[in-house]
Amino acid sequence: MQNISEIEELIKLISKLPGLGPKSAKRIILKLINNRDELVKPLANTLALVYKNVARCNSCGSLKSNSNGCVNCDNKKKYTKICVVEDIADQWSIENSNIFQGYFHILGGTISSVGQRKEDLLINSLVERVNRDNIEEVILATSATVEGQTTAYYIQDSLKNTKTKITKLAQGLPVGGEIESLDDGTLFSAFKNRSNLRSNSD
Ligand SMILES: [Zn+2]
Repeated sequence: MQNISEIEELIKLISKLPGLGPKSAKRIILKLINNRDELVKPLANTLALVYKNVARCNSCGSLKSNSNGCVNCDNKKKYTKICVVEDIADQWSIENSNIFQGYFHILGGTISSVGQRKEDLLINSLVERVNRDNIEEVILATSATVEGQTTAYYIQDSLKNTKTKITKLAQGLPVGGEIESLDDGTLFSAFKNRSNLRSNSD
């Protein structure tokens, strides 16, 4: 490689993306350089737009565009269920499988993830949403990892002063199974056989 500082910097940045090491980063950069007008320019513009206009919603944790608001929160349909997941990728998997009709709430991680504190997760706003939207069931769809289960337990405790029913995805989830990597069949049975942690206290 020639020592071009811009390219070196780009390799460093692209290598930080999931699934990409320095080798694939170099391949991507060559592709970019060979397609300056078709790829580099629109990519740079689109990234700038995303940086400017797209952010996580402070209330539900999903992605929202400044121009359209939050699709999750501004949904005209009124649901009675809310599904709590760790990451946006989990929401996308569940949406794609069409198993669940309701609101999503994205925590933004788990309690024991490295450097992740419970204050960083959107738990207070979950309690607010449950009360404000008269939610009848909160489905905890955190991973079957120690962190996921610790987080589920903590959320259950945080919801103790609400009236909602609380359920958790079935234990049939593979241990260590992250929601986003589950196939539709496994997700379907995990939803269908979800266990009751607390009944509606009305
Ligand atoms: Zn939102």
